[in-house]
Amino acid sequence: MATTITWFGTNTLLLRKGDSSLLVDPHFSRPGLLNLITKISSGEQAVEDGLKTGNIERLDAVLLTHTHYDHAMDAPTVIRQTGGALYGSQSAVNLAMGEGLKPGQYHRASVGVKEEIGEFQVEFHPSRHLPFAPPMSWLVPESAEIDHPLKSPAWFWQYACGEIYAIQVEDVLIFGSAGFEPGAYQGRDIKTVVLGIGGLETRPKAYLVDFYREAVVQSGAEKVFVSHWDHFMRPAGAEAEPLGFANQTIERVSHLGEVHGQSVAVLRLNQTYRV
Ligand SMILES: [Zn+2]
Repeated sequence: MATTITWFGTNTLLLRKGDSSLLVDPHFSRPGLLNLITKISSGEQAVEDGLKTGNIERLDAVLLTHTHYDHAMDAPTVIRQTGGALYGSQSAVNLAMGEGLKPGQYHRASVGVKEEIGEFQVEFHPSRHLPFAPPMSWLVPESAEIDHPLKSPAWFWQYACGEIYAIQVEDVLIFGSAGFEPGAYQGRDIKTVVLGIGGLETRPKAYLVDFYREAVVQSGAEKVFVSHWDHFMRPAGAEAEPLGFANQTIERVSHLGEVHGQSVAVLRLNQTYRV
């Protein structure tokens, strides 16, 4: 049975197969830059509107690559509106508990364990976050976790990174952040990689070459979808625009695809792709 992916900006990805649906890293509230100097929270209406745009009524699960606000803040609201359960790190569990989800509505992801979720086979692999430069590296260090139940409104930096995963759904491998665990994806029989490129242009080109080799070449993928390329502070409903110099990164990724023999496509807002 065919699996499809639909992209809703940032790393918000809907995967469908038969009657089963999974949502990865939901980011519908999309607070703007000025909102970030105050406490932020998930918007019930923004989530409802986002789900409606994607014709999402019911989900089997929400899967989180990490718990920065632009990947995780909306996850408990989504679960309340769609049913299903949230899967993620201990930080994600603390986020779910703080927002009042009940046991059974959240699960701690286990690295290396294949989970059957609806008709999907899901596996969480270790990963890393894109290394930030100061001052972001001080505000949101990769090592930080949400270590107690977190209730919104909260400061954006309280949505700490937590453990980071590359999430495998069937033969699709999803990177929410442009980081990798060396050697972790070799021989995984991956067909498609969703490559979150947010912030890559702040790293030396050699870093992208390493990331591409680990995430795409070593996993055996034939196809790359570029994700997290848009400006994640633009409001919901606005057209997607590249974040910073994302276009330069996209060019470099396309070139690496030519060199190594993968097709590279940039995900477009609300578009559905067969994988
Ligand atoms: Zn992040």
